[in-house]
Amino acid sequence: MKYRSTRGGVSGLTFSQAVMMGLASDGGLLVPESIPDVSARLADWQGLSYPELASQVMSPFVGDIDQTVFKNLVLTSYKNFQHPDVAPLVNVGGVQILELFHGPTLAFKDIALQFLGELFSHILTEQDKVLNILGATSGDTGSAAIAGVRGKPGIRIFIMFPDGRTSPIQERQMTTVLDDNVFNLSIDGSFDDCQNLLKTVFNDLSFKETYALGAVNSVNWARVLAQVVYYFWTWFQLKQPAEFDVAVPTGNFGNIFAGFIAKRMGLPLRKLVLATNENDILARFFQSGVYERGEVRFSNSPAMDIQVASNFERYLFYQLGENAIDCAAFMNRFQTEQCAELAQPEGFFDWFTADAVTDAETLKSIQGIWREFNYLADPHTAVGFHLAQKHRDPNVPMVCLATAHPAKFDDTVETAIPGVTNHHPSLDALLGLQTRKTAIKDDPEVLKDFIRARC
Ligand SMILES: *Cc1c(COP(=O)(O)O)cnc(C)c1O
Repeated sequence: MKYRSTRGGVSGLTFSQAVMMGLASDGGLLVPESIPDVSARLADWQGLSYPELASQVMSPFVGDIDQTVFKNLVLTSYKNFQHPDVAPLVNVGGVQILELFHGPTLAFKDIALQFLGELFSHILTEQDKVLNILGATSGDTGSAAIAGVRGKPGIRIFIMFPDGRTSPIQERQMTTVLDDNVFNLSIDGSFDDCQNLLKTVFNDLSFKETYALGAVNSVNWARVLAQVVYYFWTWFQLKQPAEFDVAVPTGNFGNIFAGFIAKRMGLPLRKLVLATNENDILARFFQSGVYERGEVRFSNSPAMDIQVASNFERYLFYQLGENAIDCAAFMNRFQTEQCAELAQPEGFFDWFTADAVTDAETLKSIQGIWREFNYLADPHTAVGFHLAQKHRDPNVPMVCLATAHPAKFDDTVETAIPGVTNHHPSLDALLGLQTRKTAIKDDPEVLKDFIRARC
């Protein structure tokens, strides 16, 4: 399989090159040249374990890695998950909750970042190269990325987070990792300041090249690909129904875009319920065809406090008939005017039902799931569950993706259900451990000096 950019300036990349490039060098996102139809192979995949299925679903997109090597790499990626099914399906009041939070950092990002860590390691060893990952996080991505590459030879990771603005649990998940290749940088500023620092340093192309800087954010194709798997897994867990719907808590459009790819591959998935919090740019788009930036609001489902969804461009590319010129024009218009509109939404537009959930509804949802079904949901999952119930068709199975363990967001869960017991042993085990972080000024030169001194 070869890869090309949604904006037309890059083509003919191998899978490995696409993984190493991350964001396409023309500013677009990398997509496969075609999406294979696997519907004829589904019968053969029945009864596979999660890692075996993952290897089968992803293989057609790879090509330049030996099949046996790739399979082993995938099996290794899911060894650190704490549930034998990797992602168990649980019936909660008739909605099937797919728990994606049994990885090392208890959020669904582990599904992709454990795999990406193994993949980077393999590609770098083959090519005898090193990689210095630079990332900015407001919470979940940083710890999952660190867990994916800690201790791996040839890789260093530098993660910036806004000092005092991630939750204490999220900070501990990062700073208790003491491996020599992990550097936690607390920045005296906001998450936006961290992202601006990241952009400034990545835009210094000679620095980027000299220090072999790489990214782990959700624009990396490998992250989307690893997420496609659990849509197939769900269908097998449901015993292969004629069709099913999935509600997806959405921020950067990464989690739900993987469902779009699964459907294009021939999985009998009917509808994707796109669930956002009050940051509703995507919900508004799917209701009107207008993509318009709003102000970021801080909500009680913070991993979805995003106005511009980085993976949206991939969907747009397909919606526009894979026309890179139209796609680039739409994104450029959005860039300059903060607003762009689809001329004639059609086709793939109908695959989505989009809706937004308020903070108050999220709290009520957490309460309701607990009182009625005795199930503890984190706020992101509760956003999805609220809409799973609202948009459920009694004749079609409805699945809700659970994206984090409730103990990761204990403050909000406590607000919704005062006094409830909400722990996870691997989070409790972090209390009192030694931590390491370096405070850094919000200044790109200081950041570059820090990186230079460690590489
Ligand atoms: C990242 C994240 C999401 C949103 O996923 P996207 O791929 O950005 O749509 C939802 N819930 C949790 C807990 C997350 O960490």
